[in-house]
Amino acid sequence: MTNKKIKIIANGVVQGVGFRPFVFNLAKKYSLGGFVRNTGFGVEIVVNGKKESIEQFISVLKKSKFDMSLSFWRHPERSEESKSLNDRILRCTQNDKGFRILPSKKTEILSEFPSDLAVCPKCQTELFSENNRRYKYPFINCTACGPRFSIIKKLPYDRKNTSMREFKMCPECQKEYDNPSDRRFHAQPNACPVCGPKLSLFDKNRKLVSQHGKALEAAVKLLKNGKILAVKGIGGYHLMCDAANKKAVELLRKRKHRPTKPFAVMTNLKTAKNLCRVNKYEEKALLSPAAPIVILKNSTFHFPLFTLSFNNTLGVMLPYAPLHHLLIKEIPVLVATSGNKSDEPIAINEKEAFNNLKDIADYFLTHNREIENRSDDSIVRFLPNSNKKIIIRRSRGYVPQALDIDIKTSVFAAGGDLKNNFCITRNGKAYLSQYIGDLAEKSNLDFYVESIKKMKSFLEVNPRMAVCDAHPGYYSFNAKYKKLYHHYAHIASVIAEHKLKGKVLGFAFDGTGYGADSSSWGGEIILFDGKEFSKVAGLEQFNLPGGEICSKEIWRNAVSLLHKYNFDSYIPKLFGIYPWKTIVKMIDNNLNSPTTSSAGRLFDAVAALTGVKIEALFEAEGAMALEALAKISAKTGKYKFEFKDNKIILEDLIKGIVKDLDKKVTPAVISSKFHNTMVEIIIEAAKIYSKKYKTKTIALSGGVFQNMVLLENTVNKLKNKGFKVFFNEKVPANDGGIALGQLFMLK
Ligand code: ZN
Ligand code: ZN
Ligand code: FE
Repeated sequence: MTNKKIKIIANGVVQGVGFRPFVFNLAKKYSLGGFVRNTGFGVEIVVNGKKESIEQFISVLKKSKFDMSLSFWRHPERSEESKSLNDRILRCTQNDKGFRILPSKKTEILSEFPSDLAVCPKCQTELFSENNRRYKYPFINCTACGPRFSIIKKLPYDRKNTSMREFKMCPECQKEYDNPSDRRFHAQPNACPVCGPKLSLFDKNRKLVSQHGKALEAAVKLLKNGKILAVKGIGGYHLMCDAANKKAVELLRKRKHRPTKPFAVMTNLKTAKNLCRVNKYEEKALLSPAAPIVILKNSTFHFPLFTLSFNNTLGVMLPYAPLHHLLIKEIPVLVATSGNKSDEPIAINEKEAFNNLKDIADYFLTHNREIENRSDDSIVRFLPNSNKKIIIRRSRGYVPQALDIDIKTSVFAAGGDLKNNFCITRNGKAYLSQYIGDLAEKSNLDFYVESIKKMKSFLEVNPRMAVCDAHPGYYSFNAKYKKLYHHYAHIASVIAEHKLKGKVLGFAFDGTGYGADSSSWGGEIILFDGKEFSKVAGLEQFNLPGGEICSKEIWRNAVSLLHKYNFDSYIPKLFGIYPWKTIVKMIDNNLNSPTTSSAGRLFDAVAALTGVKIEALFEAEGAMALEALAKISAKTGKYKFEFKDNKIILEDLIKGIVKDLDKKVTPAVISSKFHNTMVEIIIEAAKIYSKKYKTKTIALSGGVFQNMVLLENTVNKLKNKGFKVFFNEKVPANDGGIALGQLFMLK
């Protein structure tokens, strides 16, 4: 009887997620011979056996839960047109008896460089089954879930190269590990209460309070009593407290010096749905193995959750480590914020936790599985009623998933200074690092240097070429690197992500960045002509009295714009309690008052003018408050603006706002009109410059486009006018995405 065979390549999230054991068992079920193995270009499967069995195998494989795509090897002599599976199943002369999982190709160490995965449903069931030997064991995992990136010391990803090497498997665990039909076959972090990591609870004085299950019980009690705990998780420590305990939340805010910036919460899906509106896309993201924080719309104002929500939104994540599940079972909503002093890296070991969090946490719930690679929780947000999401922070769960880039050699991209993620390429793939943070902070800079070193060693590369932002004041700046302009890199990141071809008209709206004319940019219209980037237009410049401080004392931006257009009479009326006279003098005498075309500072100015926020206690607080007020509708109208010499003149806009203030128009209406105006500016510019430069492709990037009201309406209106519109979906639109853009510019 003639046998048949087929070769399949599976691409997607198929490595380190239990895919190979799944394929193994499936092949066994249909009595197929052959093998499965990781390669540099995906998982390769070759099966041989009866034709019907192969077909059944493929149909089950297609319907499996894995997030992947399958491609079938085609016989070179068959016609290109024929796409039928039949054509891909070939006659087979020699067939493999039995099915094997082959080791990864040695030369392709990167075939497995997996991200951390949230606890899978099967392990969750075992975790709460009294008769299971891992009942309430906080480190349960399997081939489909558990820590990955966070425990890797070096590649290949093998137990001995992870922080699990310290734990010798007990005979029972070893048996699971060695058995190809067990769901813990080659699960590198496999462990149980007999052989694996254990919990410890310490008090403020670093005194051991209890261990194992006792530590968990005690921790639950402490949380219920309103204590603040530092809890060691996957990529670092969280600071946790009972979200329903107003005093505890207030205390955490006080101790963390974080009066207004929102805290994320951890809760179960059911409670999340009670607290917020969760659509099917958001639910899928919450439940995904990456388990990011999803910014959701509040549907209720349950006390005291309103103290956590911000502008009617709440950052929500589901428990992703087994330990989290055990805690959430007892306390349904926990505040779970990064275990750091503000703006520093999150703590990953006891030493850092004790040193850095001693003034914040009352107790420390920790364990002895070392975290090798620090990574904060990722943050995503969906466009209203859409499956499209933006990534505000790309870190745990996404790192080190690579992005395609058309660069074969190894290049280092330094990224930006704020919200840094750097990037290293290897063989056509761009490995974007975890979130590093603001490099002006010394400890973040150390983290940056250490992570670059690690990433190079993981990838086994030593980049010959390096690129950085052109800002000479940046900590990531290096005179020896190729220097690239910030806003070009923003637009380039969209082009790289979506593999856009031809000319592109880009809108780069952000806080500030170093412009090609050495001034501060941030509201730019950029042309990519297929080869080079250039600025074709932008917002008219205005002064930033005091420079960087204008992103905090946002009323200064308003004073600056009022003064520029001779509406000085409004300054004492609106900002009388501030030292506005000094500010005006600074501008007039050109003292530390650089000019900028920043769209971010314009949002700040409008927030201050309306009075919704005069000072920002954290980055973009003013713009975010303004966004929350805005409801764009045709009825609310818009302000005037004009284009002059490729500049967008803001005079009529400011005039319109002060007139509205005179008429006691509400901040909400002013905000809506302002948002409408910004959308209109983009539409007008798109019409003018798309005609001039003959392109219908639009790219939107920069932190300002994290404003959902602006993004949604801009995208919809541009599409209605026949434009093809793209924005950042895989990398942050903020400066976290700059590194990818820098790489594209190098090509
Ligand atoms: Zn599992
Ligand atoms: Zn064991
Ligand atoms: Fe930027």
